[in-house]
Amino acid sequence: MPDQPVEDDRRPLRAPATRARQPVQELSPEPKLFVVTGPSGAGKGTLIDALVERRGDLEVAISATTRPLRPGEADGREYYFLSEEEFDRRAASGEFLEYVVYVSGQRYGTLNREVERIFAAGRSCILELETQGAKAVEALRPETVSIFVQAPSFAELERRLRERATESAGEIGERLALARRQINEAVHFDYVVTNDRLERALAELDAVVGRELGATGTMRSR
Ligand code: ADP
Ligand code: 5GP
Repeated sequence: MPDQPVEDDRRPLRAPATRARQPVQELSPEPKLFVVTGPSGAGKGTLIDALVERRGDLEVAISATTRPLRPGEADGREYYFLSEEEFDRRAASGEFLEYVVYVSGQRYGTLNREVERIFAAGRSCILELETQGAKAVEALRPETVSIFVQAPSFAELERRLRERATESAGEIGERLALARRQINEAVHFDYVVTNDRLERALAELDAVVGRELGATGTMRSR
């Protein structure tokens, strides 16, 4: 692919969905890059959504993917849903910090532009990635703080994936087989959070992020 400006003939990436945010004066003085990784179904997305709701100093970088939308998802909110050709074009013009082909055969990638946009707004950035991409980001940006989220047991992970029911039985099987391998990779990451009870795991994740940002946690009592 020839070098070419990245903005030209491509569908522009829309502004991300708005999330509840704290006032600007609460932003942390030194934004950081956080990577949350772990098996599919461990609860990464659930924890990240809850964390971002509670903290004003964090924003999730929206990835691009070639996988189809699930019911209830919106383009530019959960992901930028791209065709194979569009993904290829963006990869060739260097728009991705990293990208992978997942067990489903679909591609997922972190857009440099998303990370830059979040830092430019003075916020820390959270990436939610499978383990291969998480390790790639750690290698590219060693200052990254990485957090591995796991379910309390493999049986519970399987139950969550089957209950979520967002993939076919075959694809759930592939995700579970991948999860068996990923569980051994927890040692490569800075922190491991076991998502047993959601509120407890959220408090632990919030404390990790708060500690890394040099501030106290922001958990509110309920
Ligand atoms: P991931 O993003 O890691 O693939 P999700 O956040 O989609 O996982 O969570 C998988 C499923 O498990 C969802 O249906 C979610 O509601 C459920 N879940 C998440 N955390 C917990 C928890 N602590 N206890 C029980 N169910 C949970
Ligand atoms: P899902 O199809 O369940 O949304 O995502 C499948 C897997 O892809 C999850 O483990 C998720 O963390 C991972 N993922 C999402 N976006 C990216 C990305 O940009 N890069 C990488 N490497 N993995 C991603």
